Amino acid sequence: MNNQDLARRDLSVLWHPCTQMKDHELLPIIPIRRGLGVWLEDFEGKRYLDAVSSWWVNLFGHAHPYINAALREQMGRLEHVILAGFTHEPAVRLAERLIRLAPPGLSRCFYADNGSSAVEVALKMSFHYWRNLGQTRKTRFVTLENSYHGETLGALAVGDVALYKQTYAPLLMDVITVPSPDCYRREPGESWADHSIRRFADMERVLQQHAGEVCAVIVEPLVQCAGSMRMYDPVYLKLLREACDRHGVHLIADEIAVGFGRTGTLFACEQAGITPDFLCLSKGLTGGYLPLSAVLTKEAVYQVFYGDYAESKAFLHSHSYTGNALACTAALASLDLFERDDVIHRNQQLTRTMAEAAEVFADHPHVAEVRQTGMILAIELVKDKNTRQAYDGRERRGLAVYRHGLERGVLLRPLGDVVYFMPPYVITPQEIRLMAGVAWEGICKATND
Ligand SMILES: *Cc1c(COP(=O)(O)O)cnc(C)c1O
Repeated sequence: MNNQDLARRDLSVLWHPCTQMKDHELLPIIPIRRGLGVWLEDFEGKRYLDAVSSWWVNLFGHAHPYINAALREQMGRLEHVILAGFTHEPAVRLAERLIRLAPPGLSRCFYADNGSSAVEVALKMSFHYWRNLGQTRKTRFVTLENSYHGETLGALAVGDVALYKQTYAPLLMDVITVPSPDCYRREPGESWADHSIRRFADMERVLQQHAGEVCAVIVEPLVQCAGSMRMYDPVYLKLLREACDRHGVHLIADEIAVGFGRTGTLFACEQAGITPDFLCLSKGLTGGYLPLSAVLTKEAVYQVFYGDYAESKAFLHSHSYTGNALACTAALASLDLFERDDVIHRNQQLTRTMAEAAEVFADHPHVAEVRQTGMILAIELVKDKNTRQAYDGRERRGLAVYRHGLERGVLLRPLGDVVYFMPPYVITPQEIRLMAGVAWEGICKATND
C-alpha cells in the first residue's frame, strides 16, 4: 500500500465531510497509516503534527498506550450492550465520575453518541420539561450570533454559522438570535469584560420580551470555536445564568469543544462559577478515541420526567449505540490521565509557551488579532490591518496556509482566514515552536501580494 493507491481508491468510493470533493482534483487527500502522540504518519513515512487535535477531539495524542490497554481489556469482556433495560460498569462509573467533576448541582447523565445528538437531547429535554409542567407555550430557543452546535437539523437550527446553515434554512425551526459577546468586535481600548457586559444588554432585552415562549438559551461557553474561534469574557456567562433564573428559562452549555481542559479549566463554566441546566459533552470526552456524548442535568429536571407510566412523562430519545461500553472505557481512561498527569496544571505552562511562540504574529501586517483562551490560540488574518477589512473569502488565504503546513509537516486547518492552534496536551514546547514557525511561514506566503 502507498499514498497514491489508497488516495485513488478513496476518491472513487468515499464522500468526505465538509468538503467540496472537486477540490481533491488539485489537493491530494492524505492517507494516514498510523499515529503516535501528536504525530500522524502517511504510507511513505512523511509525518504531520496534528495541531488541530483531529477536529478538536484528541487530548493525549494518538495511540496512547494507557487508553489502548484499557480498551483491549474491556474488549475482552464486553463491547456493547443495549442501554435500555440493561447497564454495564463503564457506563455507571463514567456517569458517577462526570457528575463528580462537573459544576455542582448536575446529578444525572444521559448518554448519546456524538456532539450534535447531545445538543438534540438537551433541546428536546428542555422543551419536554416545560411541557410536562404544562407550559406548552414554551417552544423556542435563544442562541448567539456566530454560534455552532452541530449539523443535524435541530443543532443546525440553533447554530448561526452561515456556511453550514444557509443552504438548509428552509428545513430549520425558527430561533431567536442575539448578538454575540465576541470580543474581536470590542471598541479600541475596551476590555473583554466591559465588552461582554455591554453586549449582554441585547440578551436581557430578548429574555424580557420572549421568556414566556422560550425553553432555553444555548451557548458555547467562552469560545465560539467553529465560528472562527471568537472569544468572550466569563462575566457574560455569570450574567446569563442570573438572567435565565430570573426569567424562568433554561441555560444549555455546549462544552462539546471547550470541555475537558481546552480553556484552562476542566470545564469552561467553572471560570464563571456557574452551573448550567444542561451540560453537553463530547469530542474530548473519550480522549479522541470513539464517538460518545453525554448531557448532564439537574435532579429537578429529572424529577419532572419521573412518574407512573400512564402519565406519559418519560423522555423519548435513544440511539443504538447509547453509552457504548468501549467508548465509556476510553473516556474513563482519559479521565485517569487527567488525574495521573495533573494535566490541567501542566497545561498552564504549555499555554504560556503557545502565547510566547505566537507573540510575533501580532506585528504581522496582515494579522488583525492574536487571541487565546487556555489551549486555544487563534490568529485572525485580514486584508487591511488598520480597518480590519477581511479578505474576500474566495481568495482562500487560509487554504494557502493549510497547504504550506502540509508541505512542512504540520496539520493546520484554518477556519476561513483564521489560523489556530488547538493541539493535543502532550505537545512539547519544541513542537509548539515548530507549529508556530510553520504557521508564520504559511501566513507570510499566503498574504504576500
Ligand atoms: C463539534 C461541535 C458540535 C457537534 O459535534 P459532532 O460530534 O461533530 O456532531 C456541537 N457543538 C460544538 C460547540 C462543537 O464544536
